[in-house]
Amino acid sequence: MQQVRQRPEAILWENSKLEDYNVTEEGVTLQIVKEGQLIQISAKMIIAADGARSVFRKNIFRRPIDRKQMAAVIRTYYKDVKPSGKCNMFELYIFENVMPGYFWIFPMADGTYNVGLGITSDVIQSKRINLRKLMDELIIHHPLLKDRFGNATRVHPIGGAELPFLTESEPKLSDKRILLAGDAGSLADPVSGEGIGPGIVSGKYAALTAVQALKANDFSASFLQKYDVTIHDKITRAYAIRISLFDWFTKYPWRINTLIRLYPKIRWIRNLLANMIFTSFRFSDIKSLMIFKKLFKNNV
Ligand SMILES: Cc1cc2nc3c(=O)[nH]c(=O)nc-3n(C[C@H](O)[C@H](O)[C@H](O)COP(=O)(O)OP(=O)(O)OC[C@H]3O[C@@H](n4cnc5c(N)ncnc54)[C@H](O)[C@@H]3O)c2cc1C
Repeated sequence: MQQVRQRPEAILWENSKLEDYNVTEEGVTLQIVKEGQLIQISAKMIIAADGARSVFRKNIFRRPIDRKQMAAVIRTYYKDVKPSGKCNMFELYIFENVMPGYFWIFPMADGTYNVGLGITSDVIQSKRINLRKLMDELIIHHPLLKDRFGNATRVHPIGGAELPFLTESEPKLSDKRILLAGDAGSLADPVSGEGIGPGIVSGKYAALTAVQALKANDFSASFLQKYDVTIHDKITRAYAIRISLFDWFTKYPWRINTLIRLYPKIRWIRNLLANMIFTSFRFSDIKSLMIFKKLFKNNV
């Protein structure tokens, strides 16, 4: 925000809420409540980056949010967590009662630990899971965690939010005069839950598409559809491969358990697991058999 404030070409409004919008032949009108006052502004087009509860998304997706494509995520910070070993690494736990989802411990530069938990919303609803209670139970009772958190203190309140993601590889992210970026387009990685990277990447391509639309003075749905194609290619097609692999391994706990047991012993399994999580795949990788090269490349 500090950086945005310093840019002369940007106008930053804080304490302002978009209430509604309307797309017309001439442009887009936005109704915004700014410091208590209702204001109407017009634009040629919009890059909607208004997060998980986007006002714009529902009209573009044209369907209600599917709970299978939404995760509830909580996060807090602890100090004095006992380190797991010699090196302070990002730890990811796939517990049976946290599936489909995971618990994480993420060491921060200031010595505290970012600790959190996320599960898809359909499972939370059907199993009536209370995420905060589940996190406390894991930290207090789980054999892998209780000693680690024995002397730890929570130094931050637990924060929670929804994280939308997509399981289809070719989502509709644009319409006449509108482009969806980041969480507004449900672009978080459906396996790792990381949304900052896809947010930045989609923001960049949305900006490039907007420049082209302004130059061509064409804000039609058909012109802006090129944004969808770019995002499919750069982001969402790769997700399809990762979802299939992740689903196959996590369908039955024995599969993931076998994988983890063999992990320290067999190098190609270590590489497979690390690449499944951290490598970005392209759809064309499947055709060129590059997928195998990427899956088994030396990573650990
Ligand atoms: C607990 C938790 C932990 C996470 N950890 C990670 C992580 O470690 N790494 C990672 O990559 N991702 C993580 N994510 C996901 C990541 O935070 C999001 O994917 C990312 O922030 C999306 O960025 P965004 O700009 O699209 O949306 P947001 O960050 O949600 O920004 C949207 C902005 O729009 C504003 N807004 C919304 N509606 C309106 C309106 N009507 N009027 C005016 N303003 C509005 C909001 O106030 C907000 O400022 C985590 C998510 C959660 C919930």
